[in-house]
Amino acid sequence: VPVIGVLALQGDVREHVRALEACGARAVTVRRPVELAAVDAIVLPGGESTTMSRLLVTFELLDPLRARIADGMPTYGSCAGMILLAREVLDGRPDQEQLGGLDVVVRRNAFGRQVDSFETDLDVTGVPGDPVRAVFIRAPWVEKAGDDVEVLATVPDHTVTGADTGAAAGRPVAVRQGHVLATAFHPELTGDLRIHALFRKMLP
Ligand code: GLN
Repeated sequence: VPVIGVLALQGDVREHVRALEACGARAVTVRRPVELAAVDAIVLPGGESTTMSRLLVTFELLDPLRARIADGMPTYGSCAGMILLAREVLDGRPDQEQLGGLDVVVRRNAFGRQVDSFETDLDVTGVPGDPVRAVFIRAPWVEKAGDDVEVLATVPDHTVTGADTGAAAGRPVAVRQGHVLATAFHPELTGDLRIHALFRKMLP
């Protein structure tokens, strides 16, 4: 059974551990470089990307994690995790560090400040059956994606968000580039295990 780490510096760690275990994986928390070295894959949870970036430096995980991702370790980032994986962040902090792995530009807190969170149904490529109920919490969207990035889901036209709906419609909110998967939403909060199962299938 492969061991999947959940980066446990900040954010909703426990929910991901539970979801991964329900998918038949072994899930462990990762806070130290030795713990990172022991996992076959990693999940970067939602939380606050600026705080997580700072803690990655403090816990001396930034460079080792960058190296593992560049080396092909299957990686899934949700919300703040997606922001950390992006090549570039719009509306980020100037000192925010990127892990890389995803050739995308994301916009932080893209859906507007009036409405912090919303839910919508998404069709996600690779997830058969009913649409995925997606929970967005101060979420980013993908503003630009490179040629090697597969867009798995976009904001549907009928979605009502804090941003003007015209600006949000069509924005990618689930993407994959080889061994790296990212969603702007939080599948760990709904009890629907299909996104975690999709990630589980990216492991050998
Ligand atoms: N707005 C947060 C950030 O910038 C992300 C929110 C989340 O992970 N739910 O990191």
